[in-house]
Amino acid sequence: MSKVWNYYAGPCMLPVEVMEKAQKEFRNFEGTGMGVVELSHRSAEFMKVAKEAEALLRELLDIPSNYRVLFEQGGGRGQFAAIPLNLLPENGHADYFVTGHWSRCAFKECDEHYGKAILHECTFENKDGLYEVDYSKMKVTEGAAYAYMCINETVNGIESFELPDTGDVPLIADMSSDILTRPIDVSKFGAIIFGVQKNVAPAGMTVTIVREDLLGKARKYCPSIMNWSVLDKFESMYNTPCTFSWYMACLNLKWIKSLGGVKEMEGRNIAKSKMVYDYLESSDFYRVRIAVKDRSRVNCVFNLKDESLNDEFVAEGKKNGLVGIKGHKVLGGMRASLYNAMPIEGAKVLVDFLKKFAAAHQ
Ligand SMILES: *Cc1c(COP(=O)(O)O)cnc(C)c1O
Repeated sequence: MSKVWNYYAGPCMLPVEVMEKAQKEFRNFEGTGMGVVELSHRSAEFMKVAKEAEALLRELLDIPSNYRVLFEQGGGRGQFAAIPLNLLPENGHADYFVTGHWSRCAFKECDEHYGKAILHECTFENKDGLYEVDYSKMKVTEGAAYAYMCINETVNGIESFELPDTGDVPLIADMSSDILTRPIDVSKFGAIIFGVQKNVAPAGMTVTIVREDLLGKARKYCPSIMNWSVLDKFESMYNTPCTFSWYMACLNLKWIKSLGGVKEMEGRNIAKSKMVYDYLESSDFYRVRIAVKDRSRVNCVFNLKDESLNDEFVAEGKKNGLVGIKGHKVLGGMRASLYNAMPIEGAKVLVDFLKKFAAAHQ
């Protein structure tokens, strides 16, 4: 098998050790004579995996005991609906702090279907033509049921390293692409949601970490399967959960722990992204259109100055074993994702390719 470097944004690469462990156990999980995907979600063996995954997540993120962890389906998009259905009263309103594609999608979902969503545009183009997060725009309005933001905008490559002060208004955050990539203070949030397919496990599962006083407020017509209180009551087994993603998440969480936890991940992610941004910054062949302070550590978004070379860049990358470097279709340009599973060597390989391509076309 020739070596491939996978920079897809999600689904994306998982640690080699995790993939190999899963492969080894696939037909015979812990001597049961059955594969993990063949086990009942209610079997003692699977329940053990489920509990262990939750315990590891709690430990790695230092989740306070007054927060519940729910394992669900429906993805990030499902939670864009679940959030207002669980938290927004019929005549209430919520503040949406928009910093890119995914927070805008969340705003639209609420605005078009569930009630009054107030749009706060929280990025602007500065005098150097760079996109910047403006935290002063993240102000809650009187009586808001919650404030919403996306911490890492996977498509735009913008990450918010500061949090707004929302006072008593619960802050709800989408951390689909940066969960477990650095330490966070969970107690600052009312709820955190993330799809596991960026960084944690194969696609199919979504996690909601929610402060317990925010349960029990769902609308009457909220589908039971999206009702956080129902999921909590049934310990995330109201319906058949995505057992394979749950199991893979457990393996990945063990892997993160064995390496030293999220603090260690943060150090690695800083080192990898710095290597790439430093080169991009020094070159006059490429450009990064995001202010330095707001650049995502896990999704490096950049452009070729001569965009007519885009197709050639992607094709040439593929020939050299670099896959998934094309930007999201709504934005164009290029994007290389450097999640936890990407070793430092993957950042080096990327920089070497960037240099080589620039040299050949300058
Ligand atoms: C991918 C992504 C989503 C959408 O997730 P789905 O599971 O495909 O609905 C939402 N938010 C962020 C930050 C993402 O990266």
